[in-house]
Amino acid sequence: AAKTRNDGAVVYDAAMDKSSDKSLSLLTELRNAIERNEFRLFVQPKIMLDTGQVVGMESLVRWVHPERGNVFPDEFIPFAEQTGFIRLLTRWVMEKSAELCQQLAAQGHHLKVSVNLSTRDLLDQDLPVKFADLLARYRLSPGSFCLEITESAIMDDPVRAQTTLERLSNMGVDLSIDDFGTGYSSLAYLKRLPVNELKIDKSFVLNMENDEGDTKIVRSTIDLGHNMGLRVVAEGIESEAVWRLLAELGCDQGQGYFMSRPIPGDQLVAWLEKWRA
Ligand code: C2E
Ligand code: CA
Ligand code: CA
Ligand code: CA
Repeated sequence: AAKTRNDGAVVYDAAMDKSSDKSLSLLTELRNAIERNEFRLFVQPKIMLDTGQVVGMESLVRWVHPERGNVFPDEFIPFAEQTGFIRLLTRWVMEKSAELCQQLAAQGHHLKVSVNLSTRDLLDQDLPVKFADLLARYRLSPGSFCLEITESAIMDDPVRAQTTLERLSNMGVDLSIDDFGTGYSSLAYLKRLPVNELKIDKSFVLNMENDEGDTKIVRSTIDLGHNMGLRVVAEGIESEAVWRLLAELGCDQGQGYFMSRPIPGDQLVAWLEKWRA
């Protein structure tokens, strides 16, 4: 139903079907959401499993929609990726993450902030330059950022992904493979890419104290990561038993509802004070 005019503008005719009607309005709503300040930066603490020290946080976006209320990322991130809107959203998340990181540092909390990247971000040639500019504006070292990439985002276009990741890595930022074990299983990229961290997907962690198969997968992933000189992080820790088991297996860091759900960024200092107490 969309037609491109000879001046390049896309026009939609009345015969447009319902689903494209819906997605057109979702895209409009997403675009407006940035201007209307409807996105919120939530963060989830990342913790050393041996000492309990908080060393980082993962930025997770929330959309507070005027009518629909809290919209979770699973409901709009895939759409944002398809339409390319994700690039704007990623820049928003990076900006807010840098701002929070700087505020926390000023209060003596030096946490590394992890930001999720999508396929589209990896194909964005401007990303490394924009990122360097961000670091300069907030006077942050590249080491205060970790960028999380999924295996499937890499495998979408491995050659271009590698180029972008090498440029980012050369700047000194940490790179993490997210949802490890759930994507295309090509371990070869682990050898080639300048990765610092492996994140074990929560599907293997959630119920691992009752599931021998999960425990074996987690144990092997920790060993694989360590053999390759990587930091290993587990997500989805919902109980003390799982924390203890992961610590015994030598997993370096973890995050999960047992320690904290994702919370609004401006509530993190209060959370940190309680955690230390
Ligand atoms: P992810 O990157 O794998 O993030 C981890 C998800 O697990 C988060 O869901 C988090 O709230 C949830 N989680 C953390 N601890 C636990 C736990 O103990 N138990 C359970 N059951 N879940 C836990 P969330 O925030 O709904 O985000 C879902 C996904 O949406 C993320 O998965 C990520 O792929 C995407 N996403 C979120 N924010 C962003 C963003 O700013 N940019 C991009 N590109 N993607 C994002
Ligand atoms: Ca992530
Ligand atoms: Ca994950
Ligand atoms: Ca995930």
